Amino acid sequence: MRRSLNDYRTIVGDNVIGGIYKKARRLHGKSVVHVNSTYYGGGVAEILSALVPLMNDVGVVAGWRMLRGTPDFFDITKKFHNALQGDPVNLSDIKKKLYVQANEDFSTYCHISHDCVIVHDPQPLPMIQFYPRRQPWVWRIHIDLSNPNKELYEYLKGFILKYDIVIISSEEYRLPDVPVEQHVIQPAIDPLSPKNMMLAPRTIAKYLKKFDIPTDKPIVTQISRFDKFKDQEQLIDIYRMVKQQIDCRLVLCGSNALDDPESQQYYERTKRRANNLIKTGDVIMITSENNILVNALQRSSSVIVQKSLREGFGLTVTEGMLKGKPVVASRVGGIPLQITDGETGFLVEPDDMEGFARTIVSLLRDKELARTIGGKASEYTKHKFLITRLLVDYLDLLRDLIA
Ligand code: UDP
Repeated sequence: MRRSLNDYRTIVGDNVIGGIYKKARRLHGKSVVHVNSTYYGGGVAEILSALVPLMNDVGVVAGWRMLRGTPDFFDITKKFHNALQGDPVNLSDIKKKLYVQANEDFSTYCHISHDCVIVHDPQPLPMIQFYPRRQPWVWRIHIDLSNPNKELYEYLKGFILKYDIVIISSEEYRLPDVPVEQHVIQPAIDPLSPKNMMLAPRTIAKYLKKFDIPTDKPIVTQISRFDKFKDQEQLIDIYRMVKQQIDCRLVLCGSNALDDPESQQYYERTKRRANNLIKTGDVIMITSENNILVNALQRSSSVIVQKSLREGFGLTVTEGMLKGKPVVASRVGGIPLQITDGETGFLVEPDDMEGFARTIVSLLRDKELARTIGGKASEYTKHKFLITRLLVDYLDLLRDLIA
């Protein structure tokens, strides 16, 4: 069912809702278009699914376009994605050509007459050069930019410089040597979406049954695209260490995004690593795209893990925290913006396998600790990372740009 801003009153209160309507008033009838490259799988699609309908609900005419690319194009942009997070890349002329060509092709049938354009992530970044400049263009980059590959960064800068504003998720991602205004906006989640809304126990049971997830043992979960930076492989090894001390089950849930051609390969690798554990039913790997399943899984988990090596923000962390779960996550990227170690969750160095195992075991053993941390996590998330706050941030931005 379509949600409206009014539905959030019981969660954030009348003042917040009234304030949003007031801010939106100066933007009535103004049009904005978001452009990204997938409708599902991954944080950007998650955010836009919630944000775009709410923008429309408050009177901004908000559209959402999806750049269509060939498999070659997505191979290249995934390499760029990895390189922006620190990987080496062979930046050949053919890669550059295909990258720009897909954007040019898209521009021939993606007509833009909006008052503002918001381009998400590197895939549609070059499209700006194929349009006459009639409105402000915003580049919203969601990934962990703390250590980008220099050569790629220099190349992409050629496009970035054309933008009016760049939005990043953390102060630590500020783009050096880019004389373009940069704003920090932290992502957020929708507490009423199928992924986050309250679920009746019988719905949870139904979904767990449907996906063959038994509940006879405590469940430890990581929800993530299968991606080397999400490091599910090492999590299998951590799970082996945990299981020597306390019996539990590991569930890895990861659907494949349209714009991520590497995920199948990484999924196979992870599966091989978990081989015997899958046979015994100790590790369960799921690739279905199903929001209620994700919700049910997060709610049924005793511990939620995010063993990332890089993480732009980590909405899965936010989702687990909102549901009152203790999250054990790597101290990387945007995760420390959400978790205060020992207060609202636990932060572990990404290469500290024993630290991960020890923390998971202690939470499985000490239910009171898990409950206390989860309770604080939920409060903090409600205060800082709900979609209504993100809507306010965007309205403020749009007011400055186009009101
Ligand atoms: N997600 C999902 N199903 C999956 C894997 C991920 O719905 O099988 C969702 C997850 O719940 C979250 C988003 O995709 O909302 C992932 O966002 P995050 O910021 O954690 O990581 P990203 O994929 O953007 O790197």
